[in-house]
Amino acid sequence: MGPGADGRWRPEAPNAPSTENFFREIFVSRCVSLVPAVSRWYPLCLVGTRWVPLNTTSDLVRCHTQAPRWPVMDSDDHAMLEALVRHGKRHQLDDFLAQGDRCGWCRHPIRLRGFVVSGPAGEETVTFSSSSLPDGVVLKACGSRSEVRCPSCAAIYRGDSRHLVRAGLEGGKGVDEAIALHPAVFLTLTAPSFGAVHATSAVSPCHAGHPRARCAHGRPLACPRRHERGDELVGTPLCPDCYDYEGAVLQNALNSELWRRTMIYTERQLAAVLDRTQADARRVARLSFCRVAEFQRRGVVHLHAIVRADGPEGSVPPVDAGQLARACLQAAGTITVSNPNASATWGRQIDVQVLEHGDERARRVATYVAKYATKTSSDDPRLDAPVRSFEDLCRRELPTHLHRMVATALDLGADPALSELNLARHAHRLGYGGHFLTKSRRYSTTFGALRDARVQWREARRLGDDGPEDQTSEGHWHAVGAGWTDRGESLFAAHQQRQRTEDKREAELAWYTRSE
Ligand SMILES: [Zn+2]
Ligand SMILES: [Zn+2]
Ligand SMILES: [Zn+2]
Repeated sequence: MGPGADGRWRPEAPNAPSTENFFREIFVSRCVSLVPAVSRWYPLCLVGTRWVPLNTTSDLVRCHTQAPRWPVMDSDDHAMLEALVRHGKRHQLDDFLAQGDRCGWCRHPIRLRGFVVSGPAGEETVTFSSSSLPDGVVLKACGSRSEVRCPSCAAIYRGDSRHLVRAGLEGGKGVDEAIALHPAVFLTLTAPSFGAVHATSAVSPCHAGHPRARCAHGRPLACPRRHERGDELVGTPLCPDCYDYEGAVLQNALNSELWRRTMIYTERQLAAVLDRTQADARRVARLSFCRVAEFQRRGVVHLHAIVRADGPEGSVPPVDAGQLARACLQAAGTITVSNPNASATWGRQIDVQVLEHGDERARRVATYVAKYATKTSSDDPRLDAPVRSFEDLCRRELPTHLHRMVATALDLGADPALSELNLARHAHRLGYGGHFLTKSRRYSTTFGALRDARVQWREARRLGDDGPEDQTSEGHWHAVGAGWTDRGESLFAAHQQRQRTEDKREAELAWYTRSE
């Protein structure tokens, strides 16, 4: 008995069904979830109707060779089980599960070793030490905002983004609720076209035109197909040689500056509406904003932004949302960023919506913005880290269009005239060097404040009925590494994280169906 050539474990029984996922079915849903209730330390395995404690992996294999109705257990299942059994044998399975829960089953937790001392000065005693925990470490979530890098931490970031955006529209989280009466608009700014790209369309062809019409490179100018959303062609140019890659990359690079100037021009427009000088207008109506950058399928950034006008000391300004919307539109329609080597404007698809007062506007927009806050340039894990060279780029084996965007950024990055745009450093973000979510200082609360509130809430819950300790305590920590101990633990963490997301979704669904 042992793994076969393909690394999968198979029971010796001749007709074991292989349709069900053994691990999900038997081990996780029945064994591990029952561990705290049924047995304190060991994973249990259901054989027929009997629970069998497992001390080693081979116990499980033996169980299942005797009960041939169980399907195949693959090498991943085996690795996960091995990791759990390892903790179980040290009587630390509960601790391991609690450790994972605390860091949200983060994909690359930071491993900290250390202790906490409490008590009056000179008489401190150690009240907590990581040495009592599995592997002698405390696990701290990595805190990444990228969905690709860590789904668990990205979900927390998404939640915070939602709170942050919402607080700026309806108050709360330390923001005055009177803010809900201030005029606000939701602005979408796209980039101009850099050449024809394949597009999704259910009703009309991708690009209408004469089937024999060709560009200078001999490629068709028309595409009669109707692309589905998932089609890989969507967003790629009809002719890569006609496509203005340099323009697209420079547009990304200049996006943040374009936005900054759009806000300045909007203020100028608003001053004209109020018939005051700009300095005067700023005194009665100041703009604050929160914006999120989204990469379109063609690899060019477009922006979604909430712009709000505030009066002096939190009062309602003497402009209405309609005037604010018009000012934004005028500014976005006229602004150009140009230096001797590059220029950029917004595309023709500028959209502005007045955000009406009330709960619905905040919730809808906040969810929308938060959705983009955890995305990266392409959501392709191959572009998760900076590209160091052309060789590095080639090794990543990207789709052609993405490859050319990155290559163009590297190329332009070598041009001394464009050095201030740092294109090579931002090549993995297709030239874009800005943040994915930014806000003006006055817009609402901060990520830091939300994080602190969460830590305090957790701490209060941990102390529970004992109430807060009145003595001072001090932690002494140092990092000893990152990530899980082995492949089995990583796989198990990923599984738990997915399970949590699933549970949360089901709970939300139940909540919505109940309230309707
Ligand atoms: Zn993480
Ligand atoms: Zn097409
Ligand atoms: Zn062409």
